[in-house]
Amino acid sequence: MRRYVSDAAFKSVLKARETGEKIDRTVADEVAAGMKTWAIEQGATHYTHLFQPLTGATAEKHEAFITLKGAQAFEQFKGSALVQQEPDASSFPNGGLRNTFEARGYSAWDPNSPVFILDGTLCIPSVFVSYTGEALDMKVPNLKSIHAIDQAATAVARLFDPDVRKVSVNIGLEQEYFLVDEALYNARPDLQLSGRTVIGHTSAKDQQLSDHYFGAIPSRVEAFMKDFETEAYRLGIQLQTRHNEVAPNQFECAPVFCEITKAIDQNMLLMIVMQKVAEKHHLKVLFHEKPFAGINGSGKHCNWSLQTDTGVNLLSPGRTPMKNLSFLAFYTSVLRAVSRHDELLMASVCSLNNSHRLGGHEAPPAVMSVFSGSTLSRVFDAILRMEDITEETGAETIKIVSTIPEIIPDNTDRNRTSPFAFTGNRFEFRALGASANAAGTTFVLNAVVADSLKEFRAEVDALTAAGEPCSKAVLTVIRSFLSESRRVMFEGNGYSAEWQDEARRRGLKAVTNVPEAFKSFASDEAVRVFTETGVLNRTEIEARVEVLEETYVKKLQIEARVLGDICLNHVIPAAVSYQNILARSIQAGKDIFGEEYRDLCKAGMETYRKISGYVNALSTDVEALVEARKKANRIEDMASRARLYSTEVLEQMAKVRNSADHLEMLVDDALWPLPKYRELLFF
Ligand code: ADP
Ligand code: MG
Repeated sequence: MRRYVSDAAFKSVLKARETGEKIDRTVADEVAAGMKTWAIEQGATHYTHLFQPLTGATAEKHEAFITLKGAQAFEQFKGSALVQQEPDASSFPNGGLRNTFEARGYSAWDPNSPVFILDGTLCIPSVFVSYTGEALDMKVPNLKSIHAIDQAATAVARLFDPDVRKVSVNIGLEQEYFLVDEALYNARPDLQLSGRTVIGHTSAKDQQLSDHYFGAIPSRVEAFMKDFETEAYRLGIQLQTRHNEVAPNQFECAPVFCEITKAIDQNMLLMIVMQKVAEKHHLKVLFHEKPFAGINGSGKHCNWSLQTDTGVNLLSPGRTPMKNLSFLAFYTSVLRAVSRHDELLMASVCSLNNSHRLGGHEAPPAVMSVFSGSTLSRVFDAILRMEDITEETGAETIKIVSTIPEIIPDNTDRNRTSPFAFTGNRFEFRALGASANAAGTTFVLNAVVADSLKEFRAEVDALTAAGEPCSKAVLTVIRSFLSESRRVMFEGNGYSAEWQDEARRRGLKAVTNVPEAFKSFASDEAVRVFTETGVLNRTEIEARVEVLEETYVKKLQIEARVLGDICLNHVIPAAVSYQNILARSIQAGKDIFGEEYRDLCKAGMETYRKISGYVNALSTDVEALVEARKKANRIEDMASRARLYSTEVLEQMAKVRNSADHLEMLVDDALWPLPKYRELLFF
């Protein structure tokens, strides 16, 4: 930027980034011209506003730099085109926010995110809002939540260090994914259309031995990894780790954490880059949360922390009692936010895809809890044991507080069964799904924590106004936040049956139905938090819930259709072909051996019968599945339709799958038209 625009324009963009002030038209023109010059020098021919619609993916519409004036072509890119674009937005679900007669949505440049060039196109990260200003994307509420948490966290941080002027959120997103051979992928209509296998018998061997996890990275995969890491570096994404994951053909990569907006943009970009690079290696990347039934799914663990402009990680314990007091203030504020909004936070990671993963035996539990580790738990117990914070107990607590080691050992003390775990200097929210836009979750987390921090400061202020010394007031509020948050604090095995009972006793609700969970967004308490923090208004919340429901229905509809198609077009014909072979063999047995065939062809006849049973069940169940869909589609109200999809349609799909998977075990492998789990996972 320094090289392509004037000093004044450069400074004014930086200022706009810091303060959120509007960028002046003339400055925008200058920046646009600079961007264009730079982009064309790099070989770009087109530009696009890249935005993040509510459906989860990214959207782009490419425009050429060239405009025609008469017979002459000009290269042109004005400030107006940079700052604002009007994509053909009516195709994005908006939950009723844009009536067709005013069907206008605008994408506008978000100067918080750097532009970049991908495949000859200048990509301009943008926000997407309706004509009347409502957020239609994932980015806007996230930006607002960052602002909310900055204000609330700065106010608390200043209790301990008056030099703090700004607090920002840092995140590091670990990305899990599966790789499958492209040719096999192309032979699976379900993978192509829905991202997951809707039928498929488990492979005799899958992840039992964890040999994939501990084994070397296969060379074909390593070549792919090196390639996409290089591409990622070119775009400024610093990938740090790569490794095999638990399931066969499952892998993970993680970048160095950074400021949240950049981290999320880069993660969305990374997914695009990985898929593009995979093509060159004849591979397909599966970001779906649960592409294969019965084995581990994929998450996008969100490592989250707060940092001051003075360079301090607020979730990192320190060397002095004061630093630790500050640490505990922030820690307990997060705890209380999670405790108050456990259902909302779980709802924020809910999607059709992720519902197949959550609550499984190897995935984060569907009920919220926070893991703190033994060191902190001991400190918390001690603080809670004190009846009241008096002068003496205050001094005693400070002593306890000062025993928190600067570096909490995290490797020996990690709990991978917790959906929300403290890992020494950050929280790791592990329930997030691999294909999700992390902003859909972080705006909720930021908002509820901002709300909690606001209350923290208010309560401390009330106590100090009543004459309490500050550190005593802080301790008192820490203690009260802690005792309120006990319900979500859990150190044990999150996969165990005991925890499920215990969670129920504590009144923690597990997500068992996705559309039901979406309703948490519109609960009174959620609406209060979102509106008070300025993150979303009521209309936006309602629209968002509707889009979530609609997306759920559409995705499930696709899955149900592709399942029906596969059964009718692939599974049943293959089964019948095999029956014909069996029939010929039985007939031949009879012709050659007479009555003896009853003994000789016993197994063949038995198989024939079994196949008939499953084929008949399959065709009845597919019909019933179509009926269940039709019944649901007739319902106007989106919430009720989603509800029916999540119950009757899903149940019917399970029945269909059961017969299909049995047939896979009965039919001649040479006749089976779909790549099997064994092939998809081990090739
Ligand atoms: P794991 O052992 O959980 O698999 P990884 O090394 O794969 O850990 O990923 C950890 C992620 O957390 C990385 O993206 C890393 O940059 C990020 N991270 C580290 N420290 C912080 C922090 N203070 N705030 C946010 N993210 C962090
Ligand atoms: Mg990792």
